[in-house]
Amino acid sequence: MIYVHVPFCKSFCTYCGFYSEVCRQPSQMEECIANICREAALRRDEMAASADMDTLYIGGGTPSVLPLSLFSRLVRALPPGPYGEFTVEVNPEDIVEKGVSYVRELLDLGVGRISMGVQSFDDGILRWMNRRHDADRARKAFRILREAGVGNISIDLIFGLSHLSDELWEKTVDEALELAPEHISCYQLSVEEGSALEKLIADGRYREASEEQCRRQYDLLCRKLAAAGFRHYEVSNFARPGFEARHNSAYWRRVPYVGLGPGAHSLLPGGRIRRWNADTVPVYTATEEHLTDEDIRVEALMLALRTDRGIAGADLARLADPAAVERLRSAGAIVPVAERSSIPGDRYRIPEDHFFVSDEIIRELL
Ligand code: SF4
Repeated sequence: MIYVHVPFCKSFCTYCGFYSEVCRQPSQMEECIANICREAALRRDEMAASADMDTLYIGGGTPSVLPLSLFSRLVRALPPGPYGEFTVEVNPEDIVEKGVSYVRELLDLGVGRISMGVQSFDDGILRWMNRRHDADRARKAFRILREAGVGNISIDLIFGLSHLSDELWEKTVDEALELAPEHISCYQLSVEEGSALEKLIADGRYREASEEQCRRQYDLLCRKLAAAGFRHYEVSNFARPGFEARHNSAYWRRVPYVGLGPGAHSLLPGGRIRRWNADTVPVYTATEEHLTDEDIRVEALMLALRTDRGIAGADLARLADPAAVERLRSAGAIVPVAERSSIPGDRYRIPEDHFFVSDEIIRELL
């Protein structure tokens, strides 16, 4: 698994807490990409050594702000593949501006999956989020991706804004389904440290949505996507069968990965050392931390129990508080996973109707 962080955006979204810079000078992007290529060369053995290096994910930031020449230089600096899954994150306005030929060039470079940040199909909500696109551009971008031949598209949506009515949310979900993407990632608005939203709240200019409103919107989403044939395979992720994200699914199983670029994290083979790059451009340095048994226990439980494949019975017994497991099993908040060809037996999960409170359930197990 290789992750590359492209830390540039054209503007900042109200809710965003990811590391990114507004790029004002092309030379800054060039220098940063040159440094990521240098890092890739230095870590070539590390990437080649892992048997699990079959997914490549280029995220950010907004990788689609890179000129094609820079994007292609970056891809050519990475192991040549082919990858079982090669995803690039894009924003709708870049796809509309650059058009079908740009997307075809991405496909020629080996990209097979596109993850597009749509977030909403309501122009008022998009303006509040400080997104650069409107709903028409999101629809147009989606059509361009299809016209270019992208057969695996994921779109991101956000719910749980206090000024997002249930009716508007339902309309948004319906519009997303009309486009017929293969995958939908859907996140509840959260207040990230350092985001513009954090400041709006501190200044009394935004009041967070109530838990009941968020729950209603999440339930509506789960109902509609289940009826449309999506598998709810992780708390925030839904896929048509066979289109579950391989990269993220491996991350949730704590498969080691190599993260390149400013702000990127890596989990080294053995799963006991985390390395992360400083979030500075264009030059960045790396720091390492040895994970304790307790860090690994908490991470393993948290990641596994947010998915529909859950956790092996033996691991649940080894990692979780036995009294809490007993309590939660009697309350129906932890249930056996129904055996399926893709999921082996003797596993336990949080059922879908408890996904909304998964954080509390996991806290109790710790
Ligand atoms: S949400 Fe995406 S596009 Fe918006 S600021 Fe964050 S990284 Fe950039």
